[in-house]
Amino acid sequence: MIAEALKQIRSELPEGVRLVAVSKFHPNEAIMEAYEAGQRIFGESKAQEMTAKHESLPKDIEWHFIGHLQTNKVKYIVPYVTLIHGVDSYKLLADIDKQAGKAGRTVDCLLQLHIAQEETKFGFSFDECREMLDAGEWRQLRHARICGLMGMASNTDRLEQVRGEFAALGRFFQEAKGIWFAEAPHFKELSMGMSHDYPEAIAAGSTLIRVGTRIFGEREY
Ligand SMILES: *Cc1c(COP(=O)(O)O)cnc(C)c1O
Repeated sequence: MIAEALKQIRSELPEGVRLVAVSKFHPNEAIMEAYEAGQRIFGESKAQEMTAKHESLPKDIEWHFIGHLQTNKVKYIVPYVTLIHGVDSYKLLADIDKQAGKAGRTVDCLLQLHIAQEETKFGFSFDECREMLDAGEWRQLRHARICGLMGMASNTDRLEQVRGEFAALGRFFQEAKGIWFAEAPHFKELSMGMSHDYPEAIAAGSTLIRVGTRIFGEREY
């Protein structure tokens, strides 16, 4: 089932769009099933859970952190993480930089934008993000590299609303590329789209979709 779901989703991906298989709350056996089917990028939302899985699973897996990262957990994941999707404050970015420096690495990060109508989702507003990028302190960071943006659309069946939110993030991505990252070829990732809305996200320019339920089934919390 996992292999079939992966095959189906991959067949829908245009060139340049990569799939993050969101394996949070699923056991190593499920991850290995996806791995045997060729999947190498996995997404987790808890530092401890991701670290335990990293330690026990094949070393050619790319681990992406997609959750809300607490500052005190940064040091556990920077030695091995490939991409941190949800950076929602300058302070967190600076902490990642500090810990990544200690670990002798450069860690790729995405800035999370709040695009949904729900109050509960984390992330910068567009204006907060502009302000942070204008302030320019991030340019001094040597070990945390901003590679793009991430966002989650409202959890609704109203696809027009979802499309509008993805389009707004797509426009902001182009704005950021033009203004702050014109000289930065690594600024190229736009992480948006989950099980129920990835086709809309791809249509709006996503380069990384984060899909869990469609691959692994419902999570048991
Ligand atoms: C859990 C999660 C996903 C995957 O959600 P599904 O609906 O299971 O595809 C994607 N992105 C983030 C940030 C998540 O926390």
